[in-house]
Amino acid sequence: MTRPAIGITARLRAAAGAIRIDLDQAYARAVSDAGGLPLVLPPIGDPDRIDDLVATLDGLVLSGGSDVDPARYGAAPHPRLSEVAPERDAFELPLASVACRRRLPTLAICRGCQVVNVALGGTLWQDLPSERPGSVAHDIDGPRTVRSHPVALAPDSTVARAVAATRLDVNSLHHQAVRDLAPDLRVTGTAPDGTIEAFEGTDGWLVGVQWHPEAFWAEDGAPDLGLFRALVRAASGRVRPRGRAPAHSGR
Ligand code: MN
Repeated sequence: MTRPAIGITARLRAAAGAIRIDLDQAYARAVSDAGGLPLVLPPIGDPDRIDDLVATLDGLVLSGGSDVDPARYGAAPHPRLSEVAPERDAFELPLASVACRRRLPTLAICRGCQVVNVALGGTLWQDLPSERPGSVAHDIDGPRTVRSHPVALAPDSTVARAVAATRLDVNSLHHQAVRDLAPDLRVTGTAPDGTIEAFEGTDGWLVGVQWHPEAFWAEDGAPDLGLFRALVRAASGRVRPRGRAPAHSGR
């Protein structure tokens, strides 16, 4: 059986005198273990070619990383805004909106879920601790597999089906979160302080989670990994026929 091609967004990082393409291997491991073919997508290239890129993929993982530039959702920068990555915003915002428009099965993780929300017209809390002080600490220092707060999941949601639970203790490594949810998205998971921790699209397979399910890739039976299996299943349903080029693609 052909493995569905799952694109995973990566970042650029300066190291040892070069600008390198950088991705936590956990994303690729989780996709591969779930039966997908992981393809790393650097934030490089002409945004006009994103339609072509999306056409080569069966599914997409929007990975975590730095803050989205608040100018992208019409807000002034908060004093506690962290590092932004203009090259990622320039690549991933149109990628997210084309992927949604073309109903490419998409799992959007942490920064990725913020990117989808902004791409579809939503806004973000720029710094949860100062803008929305509450009882839940969301930016936990330490091992990425520490489950630090619960999330209540809507029983009829894609995320609840994928993890086979309506309550899940999750890891939490974020200081931003969805503020105003974009039209055409539906909240499917919340932390005890009301922070939006999961959403889904109303059309096609689109799931956003504010936690990091990929961090559990090496943990046998971690419920979070069901998200990757569900993504790969959705992507398998739309795998393009291979080995037979279209007579004339026009591209
Ligand atoms: Mn959290």
